[in-house]
Amino acid sequence: LRWHDNAALASAASENGLIQPVFVFDTDILARFVNPKDRRLNFLSAVLCQMDAQLKKQGGSLLVLHGSAVEVIPALVRATHAKTLHAAADFEPSTRVRDKTVADALEGICDFKRVKDHLIFAPHEILKADGTPYKVFTPYSKAWLAKLNDDTVAVKVAPHVKWTNHSHDVISQAGLKILDLSRGPAALLEQIGYTYIEDAQWPADAGPEMLRGFAASGGLSRYGETRNEMALKGTSRLSPYVRFGLVSVREAVRAALSQTTHETWLNEIIWRDFYAMILFHFPETPTQEFNERYRGNALQWSQNTEHFEAWKAGKTGYPVVDAAMRQLLEEGWMHNRARMIVASFLTKHLHLDWRWGEEHFAQYLMDYDQASNVGGWQWAASTGTDAQPYFRIFNPTTQGEKFDAEGEYTRRYVPELRALSAKHIHTPYKFGRPENYPAPIVVHEESRAKALEMFKRIA
Ligand code: FAD
Repeated sequence: LRWHDNAALASAASENGLIQPVFVFDTDILARFVNPKDRRLNFLSAVLCQMDAQLKKQGGSLLVLHGSAVEVIPALVRATHAKTLHAAADFEPSTRVRDKTVADALEGICDFKRVKDHLIFAPHEILKADGTPYKVFTPYSKAWLAKLNDDTVAVKVAPHVKWTNHSHDVISQAGLKILDLSRGPAALLEQIGYTYIEDAQWPADAGPEMLRGFAASGGLSRYGETRNEMALKGTSRLSPYVRFGLVSVREAVRAALSQTTHETWLNEIIWRDFYAMILFHFPETPTQEFNERYRGNALQWSQNTEHFEAWKAGKTGYPVVDAAMRQLLEEGWMHNRARMIVASFLTKHLHLDWRWGEEHFAQYLMDYDQASNVGGWQWAASTGTDAQPYFRIFNPTTQGEKFDAEGEYTRRYVPELRALSAKHIHTPYKFGRPENYPAPIVVHEESRAKALEMFKRIA
């Protein structure tokens, strides 16, 4: 979702024809958006209106349609007699099926060109010498870095674009539902049955400036020291912008390479490619453990829904876990260290299925990305590729003491604990727990022992 450095647009422009940009609110995807006030849709609608306004200044306009993409796209191609359809390649299992269905429907009618845009290296570009996919991150990252060069991250230029504005009558006559962007994001969302809420947390146009600021202020270079401090803005917070393409991942890498010290931050971008590669080659992993040993009923997950509700609401009695879960609800985002802590807590302390946690994150994360989320969850649950060993179980209290030493992060999201000092905030059960704050729902040592038992039986 950007005009600058967009591989699909550059691909279209290279053919010298007239270009009509199209966005489909795909009802097959929206079926999973059960919250009528989902903030990702707020964000999307604001972004689409912004992009349309930018395009109008150049004589074009963005065509936004509503319906099942597998029907809408072929119908649109037929109605407009488009010669070529250009899109960014998508490597998730369900979207590959979608794109294949569209490609089949367009056979003999129109070329369908899919170009790599949202990854630095596509899943088949970095393989082991024997042609099989890497399963371990470090050798993958070495191969990734060895392959990186200026061309890989060069701006995708789209010179002399000639926009066209297709007649809405022709498109409507083909039975397609065109959405009106002229009345702003709230009216846009209303047309697809969702409610718009002004969201100061994630301004639609902030991404590129955030990236520039993160590099220019030294945040990127200092990332290795600040990335785990949950109270600080020690990470870029760019993930929603990268996720929706408002910041090009090539631009992110260019920003990293412009700094002398950039290895630690760049490594995170490599993790993103790594998880996309894993999901591509192991498409069963959103529902099954990557490590086959743990598949089926090997791990006896608890079914305790009261524990699950307490975790979701941030009422476990473990301050840093609760702060993190409330950050997710309030901001649609969570610090990476916090994601690791709460995912470990769900799986190793509450012994609840990582898929439950993955689904909860999928509902609330602004940056939700199936590959990174499944990868992160399976890492924390010790079932994934290159995962946290099962016997390394985070102690949620000491994690808080270490990565929120002053208690600032916890105080920000858990008002019940604001009066507690840095020394006491992570152990309120020992030092005068306020009445309105819950006692720990599980005992750390007991839960830890049970998790070890659960995994040891299979190891
Ligand atoms: P920075 O630390 O500034 O990193 C820069 C960029 O690199 C991020 O914006 C992101 O695009 C990418 N990145 C950073 N860390 C990772 C990582 N570990 N894996 C993959 N990409 C990474 N990230 C998502 O984008 N979507 C998800 O749905 C998601 N779910 C996660 C679930 C769990 C259980 C865990 C442990 C991690 C998950 N992550 C996910 C990875 C990571 O937590 C976020 O990318 C990061 O917190 C985003 O914050 P930032 O933009 O400040 O990142």
